[in-house]
Amino acid sequence: MVHRDLTFDAKFNPNFYFLQEIIDMCDYAVGLSRQLNGSIIPSERPDHMMLEAWNPLGIVGVITAFNFPCAVLGWNACIALVCGNCVVWKGAPTTPLITIAVTKLMAEVFEKNNLPGAIFTSFCGGAEIGQAIAKDTRIALVSFTGSSKVGMMVQQTVNERFGKCLLELSGNNAIIVMDDADIKLAVRSILFAAVGTAGQRCTTCRRLFLHESIYQKVLDQLVGVYKQVKIGDPLEKETLVGPLHTRASRENFEKGISSIKSQGGKILVGGSVIDSDGNFVQPTIVEISPDASVVKEELFGPVLYVMKFKTLEEAIEMNNSVPQGLSSSIFTRRPEAIFKWIGPHGSDCGIVNVNIPTNGAEIGGAFGGEKATGGGREAGSDSWKQYMRRSTCTINYGSELPLAQGISFGS
Ligand code: NAD
Repeated sequence: MVHRDLTFDAKFNPNFYFLQEIIDMCDYAVGLSRQLNGSIIPSERPDHMMLEAWNPLGIVGVITAFNFPCAVLGWNACIALVCGNCVVWKGAPTTPLITIAVTKLMAEVFEKNNLPGAIFTSFCGGAEIGQAIAKDTRIALVSFTGSSKVGMMVQQTVNERFGKCLLELSGNNAIIVMDDADIKLAVRSILFAAVGTAGQRCTTCRRLFLHESIYQKVLDQLVGVYKQVKIGDPLEKETLVGPLHTRASRENFEKGISSIKSQGGKILVGGSVIDSDGNFVQPTIVEISPDASVVKEELFGPVLYVMKFKTLEEAIEMNNSVPQGLSSSIFTRRPEAIFKWIGPHGSDCGIVNVNIPTNGAEIGGAFGGEKATGGGREAGSDSWKQYMRRSTCTINYGSELPLAQGISFGS
């Protein structure tokens, strides 16, 4: 859909890699359009053949969050369109320019290819339009990305009309650092995962579990690098932390910090808003008990809760002890720890990483999470199946009527 020449140099500025992601999704979807394969299943009846075919759903509604204003659209729309659907998109109310710009780009591509523009339409607006999409019986699937609270409302509305819902909701992601971990690699990864995009990603690392034997060493290094992080204009090359999205996000950060303090959290670095015209806040590290109720919630800013553990089992239990189940990561070189972590008694998240941060997923894998993260999967792998309806077709090419399970009826 989008020509390869548009590929960005994402290394130039990490703030542009969201654009790279939609370009990658276009490339991926074009290839995928030739591989929406069904299957042939042996029939138990003579002269019969069974097959599964995948057909488009019709109209797919996409409601997106502010923090991935076009990448999430790409995960959904690129796949939904090559599956033969039309797309109705509602972007976040605070990112209307991106909604308009992407819609114009798409319109150009459709025009050049003599396709009707109505294949892809979009709205700027808030909850009323989101609810209208959720209620509309013409929209077969509603793919919603946003908070768990709003996601639950959308799901209930869509369920009431027996529509399909695909949910990508809040995360509360953790990194575990084992005693044998490469500490340098871990510290770099934690920094990127916890403060990148000012902590405003669904996959931001919000909880850090350090083995007791390396606890102080890692913490000292992290506090040191946090103090050097350059906060400012995200378009400047050296900037690592930009502002929070709105004044409301900044107020939410302040409220979060006061709850942390009232629940016994000890601020090791940061903890304040920065006196400026923008919504800048300090990247923050907090020492706190895993049982504090704030730790179970997603505070959408650069706040990292740090906790100590003795055994891998204890760390996995802490990782799994929150309502959300999006992303998780372990730093270790030990095969038995790695395989336990990715196996049935390991992380209960949709994204289970080893020796890399919780964020920055590749589009080739299915993206999404379990529990209060909603259970949806988008982007790569077999996520496309969610944008199609499955038809199980049985064809009788003989002249008899044998019945399944050997049933004899009127003969
Ligand atoms: P939000 O839930 O406030 O809003 C998301 C979208 O829902 C917006 O377009 C909004 O206008 C719309 N909306 C609001 N009320 C609605 C209603 N009653 N009915 C229908 N639509 C309604 O979320 P946000 O603040 O924009 O984004 C941050 C949240 O999104 C975080 O929780 C983050 O973790 C999550 N998120 C998740 C993923 C993921 O893939 N799991 C990706 C990005 C963001």
